[in-house]
Amino acid sequence: MAQTKTKSGKPEVYKNYIGGRWVKPAGGSMMENRNPADTRDVIGLFPASTSEDVAAAVDAARRAYPGWKATPAPRRAELLYRFGQILVERKEEYSRDMTREMGKVLKEARGDVQEAIDMTFYTAGEGRRLHGYTTPSELPHKMAMCVRQPVGLCALITPWNFPMAIPSWKMMPALVCGNTLVIKPAEDTPLSTINLVHAAEAAGLPPGVINVVVGTGESAGAPLSTHADIRLVSFTGSTETGRRVAEAAAREGKICSLEMGGKNVILVMEDADLDLAVEGAVWGAFGTSGQRCTASSRLVVHRRVYRKFLEKLIERTLTLRVGNGLDRRVDVGPVINEDAVAKILGYIEIGRNQDGARLALGGRRLEKGAHRHGFFIEPTIFADVAPGMRIAQEEIFGPVLSVIACRDLDEAIEIGNGVRYGLSSSIYTRDVNRAFEAMERMYTGIFYVNSSTIGAEVHLPFGGTKATGNGHREGAMNTSLDVFSEWKSIYVDYSGRLQKAQIDTAELVG
Ligand code: NAD
Repeated sequence: MAQTKTKSGKPEVYKNYIGGRWVKPAGGSMMENRNPADTRDVIGLFPASTSEDVAAAVDAARRAYPGWKATPAPRRAELLYRFGQILVERKEEYSRDMTREMGKVLKEARGDVQEAIDMTFYTAGEGRRLHGYTTPSELPHKMAMCVRQPVGLCALITPWNFPMAIPSWKMMPALVCGNTLVIKPAEDTPLSTINLVHAAEAAGLPPGVINVVVGTGESAGAPLSTHADIRLVSFTGSTETGRRVAEAAAREGKICSLEMGGKNVILVMEDADLDLAVEGAVWGAFGTSGQRCTASSRLVVHRRVYRKFLEKLIERTLTLRVGNGLDRRVDVGPVINEDAVAKILGYIEIGRNQDGARLALGGRRLEKGAHRHGFFIEPTIFADVAPGMRIAQEEIFGPVLSVIACRDLDEAIEIGNGVRYGLSSSIYTRDVNRAFEAMERMYTGIFYVNSSTIGAEVHLPFGGTKATGNGHREGAMNTSLDVFSEWKSIYVDYSGRLQKAQIDTAELVG
């Protein structure tokens, strides 16, 4: 089981997991990871892996593949049920580790681990389905059907903001389909992936089926995603990195599934329950310190209720307490690291000076008292934002909300769709016609009515349009199995003679 401190008080030294063994990185280099709420707290030392470690992990996955592929899917699923049960038993421990390494408040960290549990049990049920289908052949005495087959060796590359949920969205469907895998977690949150793998190990997954290589994107992620034996790269992260990963994968002819950035929007109509919409906006914009791919970073409000709504929004936001996520009274934790602080403050500066938006609340780093050792930024609201401003177009990935006025639903939808991303959107209205109108016309992968832009459940497709994705969806079984398996069409001719499709058919009818 994972520990974060040794008895001597020195930070724990973590290892890669390759071929069923915990091993040091070949080059011996380690990276330090610190708590973003209190940088005096060292989470541990983690491998700074290189292509040599990646090669060893891929080799282990290659050796384990024939055995895992040949294991009947219901047996694979039994191990997943055990895996899920162990996550249930360790939920509190893993949630606390997550808050310490990533910063999100404990309630949300529990939600993250719960999502991994949901995904594990949900996918395990698929072990007795993995449905294909039969269909009539156009020829007599011939049967046609199609079945799923594993793709082979998978590279999973994950971000830091959902450090257990996102690895599980990829890992569980990959496993139930019969693939073996190597995962490279984000440099800021390796512990949660290591915890996930400890649970897999305790569940009895055979050596080599899951391998973990910790390291930076350049030194471990890039060699993993381009390794000759890797058939599929499943990536979640920023659009910029995702496109680089996709280009490299395309050169090698690999299957590549991408989940990338977002600039999500809540539309608030004049007939909305404003108090409900305020709750949704505050949760969507400032939950996880705005560091969700589905965060509500834009709010488009009907001008008839704009002033009143803004007042209520500011009033509610002022009640949020920013601090260490392990403190039960805290609503908003730190952002992930110093680079994130610089990026977010940079955007606040752009909003004020370059864009000329009105800073209605917040805008500063919190550096005093309980905040002085962490990466804390005040929940920030820009008002009177124009849709084309950079703060309304680019992904800031922090607690910064842009509020835009609109005159009617048509304009709200136009503004809502007027960004390069297409992950999540929502509308607050009591008018069913307008709700359906927006549902039809918002070009996003996820849409909510009278709810925030966040709150996806594992059994529905998850992903986005435009610069958010490349057409794949995680989550729901049919869609995620389409990523992690390939179809095999099978024709069985029991006529005892040569029958020619498209040619003999004409003779039969004519
Ligand atoms: P990131 O793109 O910086 O890193 C993601 C992962 O890619 C990390 O593990 C990183 O080490 C690795 N990486 C970096 N360079 C690489 C390279 N050249 N080759 C291979 N791997 C490489 O993203 P991040 O900062 O960790 O995460 C935040 C981003 O993720 C945001 O843009 C957010 O919207 C997005 N995200 C999207 C979803 C979604 O489902 N659409 C979910 C969560 C986060």
